[in-house]
This record gives sequence, C-alpha cells and structure tokens, in this order.
Amino acid sequence: MEKKNLYIQTFGCQMNVQDAQKMAVLLEASGYGTTDDPAQADLILVNTCSIREKAAQKIYSQLGRFRELKERNPHLLIGVCGCLAQQWGDRFFRRVPFLDMVVGTHQIHRLPEMIGELERAGGRIAETGFCDRVGSLEIPAQPAAGAVSAFVTIMQGCNNFCAYCVVPHLRGREQSRPLPEILREIEALAAQGIHEVTLLGQNVNSYGRALAEETDFTRLLGAIGKLPGIGRIRFTTSHPKDLSPQLIACFGEIASLCEHIHLPVQSGSDRVLKRMNRGYTAEAYRAKVAELRRVCPQISITSDVIVGFPGEEEEDFRQTLELMREVRFDNLFSFRYSEREGTAAVGMERPVGEGVKRERLSVLQALQAEHTLEKNRDCIGRQEAVLVEGANPNGSEEMTGRTRGNRIVHFPGRSGLIGKTVSVRIVEAFPHSLRGEAEQRGGADVH
Ligand code: SAM
Ligand code: SF4
Repeated sequence: MEKKNLYIQTFGCQMNVQDAQKMAVLLEASGYGTTDDPAQADLILVNTCSIREKAAQKIYSQLGRFRELKERNPHLLIGVCGCLAQQWGDRFFRRVPFLDMVVGTHQIHRLPEMIGELERAGGRIAETGFCDRVGSLEIPAQPAAGAVSAFVTIMQGCNNFCAYCVVPHLRGREQSRPLPEILREIEALAAQGIHEVTLLGQNVNSYGRALAEETDFTRLLGAIGKLPGIGRIRFTTSHPKDLSPQLIACFGEIASLCEHIHLPVQSGSDRVLKRMNRGYTAEAYRAKVAELRRVCPQISITSDVIVGFPGEEEEDFRQTLELMREVRFDNLFSFRYSEREGTAAVGMERPVGEGVKRERLSVLQALQAEHTLEKNRDCIGRQEAVLVEGANPNGSEEMTGRTRGNRIVHFPGRSGLIGKTVSVRIVEAFPHSLRGEAEQRGGADVH
C-alpha cells in the first residue's frame, strides 16, 4: 500500500489530544503515517474545540491558512473533527467552502470509511450523529515514544448541564468504559515503560454509573493501584457535588494515587453557583476541601473559575476572591465567561460587560499569582519525589520532572534519569516551577 501523509492539528483539551492519537492509530491501517509538515500532507485533520468563543475563532483563522495548500494540491483532503465540527455539522461547508469532511465527536471510528468514500467518489461528507456506544472509546491512544506518563480516557460525555457549558450538547451523555478494558490498556502502557497514568473524564466521580457491571470510580482506582509498574495515578476532572467520602479516603489508602486534585469551583457565590446549575454551595465546597486536607494534609488543590457569568455582581465576585483567600489554591485556571450556542445561559438576564470581565479576571489572576508563588515557596527545603520526564527545554544540563503534587521541578541531572523517580531537595521557587538538587547516590531511584 502506498504510504500517505496525515497532518493532525489539535486545539483544546487533553481529551482532544487523546482523540488525535486515536485517529492516527486508526488511519495507520488505511496507509497513513503522520507528518509534522502540513505542506507534505495528503490528509489534514483539524481537531477542534468550542468551549469558548476565542478557541473557535482561532480555528477558523487556522483553517483559512490551509486554503492555499488545497489550491496547490486538489487531491489534498481536509477534515474537521471535535466539538466545533459537532456544533456546526454541514453548516461548516458554507463557512469553509474548501472543506471535504466534518466528523462529529461520536463518529471518529468511521474516519477510514469516510476517507475511503471521499477518495473513491469525491464530494463532501458530514457525519454528526450520536451513538449509544462511542466507537472510538475503545481505541487505545498511543503516547509518544519514550513517554513516561500517559492519559487514559475512562469515560466520555457529561450529564451535568452546567448552564454555561457546551460539553453535554456536543459530546453527548456520559458513557463509561468497562473496567477490565481500562485495566488492559493500562497494563499494556506499563509494559511499554509508562510509569504514570492520568485518568480522563468530564466528571470521573460518576464513572461506572451507566455500566451493566456494578462498579464505581473508587473501585477502578483500587484496581489500578494494584497494577505492577504503575507508580503514579492521577485523574481529572472531579465535580465537587459528586466528590464522595469514599473517593476522599482513597487519598489516604492508595499509595500510588498522587496527592493532587483538580476540583473546579467556578465561583465563590451561592447565587452564581445556583444560576450555573453546579449543584453545590460555596460552604459545601469548603467542607470538601477541609476533608481532603484532613485525610491528606499535603494534597495540592487546583481549580477553575469563570468570571462575568450573567448576573455576577461585584459582591459575588468579592465572594470568589474570599473563597480563594481561604482555600489558597495551588494553581487556578480562570476564564472570562463566553456565551455558547445552545446552552441554558444564553439570553440570561444582566450580562456582564467585556470590560468588567477583563478587569475581574486580572484582579483574580493577580491574587492567584501571589498564592501560587507562596505555595511554591513553601516547598523550599522539602525533599520531593520527582518523576523525570525529559531534558529541561531551557537548560542544557538540566532534567525536568513533576512532584506528586504536580509541580514542575528542574534540577541538574543526566538523561539516564528519564523515567526514574528521583529524590530532589527543593532550593528555589518561581511562579510556574521549582528548582532543586538531586540527592547524591547518583540520583537514586526512590520507587
Ligand atoms: N468537566 C469539568 C468540570 O466539571 O469543571 C471541566 C470542563 S471544561 C472543558 C473546563 C473549564 O472551562 C470549566 O471548568 C470552566 O471553568 C471553563 N468553561 C467551560 N465553559 C465555559 C464558558 N462558556 N465560558 C468560560 N469558561 C468556560
Ligand atoms: Fe461542562 Fe459541567 Fe459537564 Fe464539566 S460538569 S463538562 S463544566 S457540563
């Protein structure tokens, strides 16, 4: 079979990165090998994100750049996948007339068939139907050669319908993968040298709810905790309303479960949380944080916040800052509210102006920068177990890795340490990373 070149460009979240790896695995059987150069491609796939309007705009401008390649090579096929493809369906052809293919979030497994059809008969194809079982959920993603850490999708979709969010509309209802299949995938990753897995789902706490077998997320964690070769387990994302006492207890029971949780709070105001349909109060959130810290005092807690949701007053915003001061997140991802087609928040009363959103975001980010640096400084003098991921791209003689709390650490070391867990004494703290010195004994493996 003649080898053809596939170029995939991915926007958005880790879920999309996983999907892109699956597409590459699938299309290998159709004779496609991946290339880093779009000018060499026979097939370009743009894996899109629609979570905020800014992400969508970036994608349209990127697609515009591929027009010239299509004009030079009429045999080039160009497709869009992911959330924006699901949202726009065949309306995408009107917006981007040189597109050949629109592949919805439940249709990835049909890519080889769709491409075969385009190669044979030409024309255009848009497939955006939802399926009871997402066919691509069982395709194992392929991490890069030499990687020490891998993501594993355990579920897809979401049933929560937060008022601002497109995910349930564009990724469909929640579906979980059967536990034995997840374990098989992780065992295969461990055999390839992967030491750390991050389990992915929009709300991992509800893993297993719709499966025929009786299982739940804590059982999955317990089972992975017993797999030889997997020294570190992480997961994301956890919804505060479903964070159970059993899951909190896992942080004290499963040795390989890293001391980090990403627990998006979105707002510190009950009024706003209610309008967002989040299903918890700020007080309930604080109580879960307190319980996490009681069970696991060294746990890192990171979060997401949206500013400028419709109806957010100065007082609501003040309550968000107050919650941040109390909780002191280790890190925070913060966003200006962006109205998304089809969500419940569209047309809600008292929209917040863009200027106010910008101002609130900058106040919030300045506060978080103080907290992040303060938390990083707290690490100075500590001995941290660092899983070495590779060379520091900015420092020739340095290695880079992560602590169990998910902090990036640079330290002088040799490339033979990649994949090993090294005991590092932290000597300096920066806004986004730490610097340390490996314990002598030649950087001994501590796990
Ligand atoms: N499932 C996760 C959860 O429960 O929080 C996160 C999903 S979303 C991909 C990641 C983050 O994007 C959200 O936590 C939220 O802060 C932000 N986000 C989602 N929709 C947004 C919107 N319309 N405008 C601004 N930020 C948004
Ligand atoms: Fe979106 Fe809410 Fe589902 Fe997260 S839990 S994916 S924010 S609807």
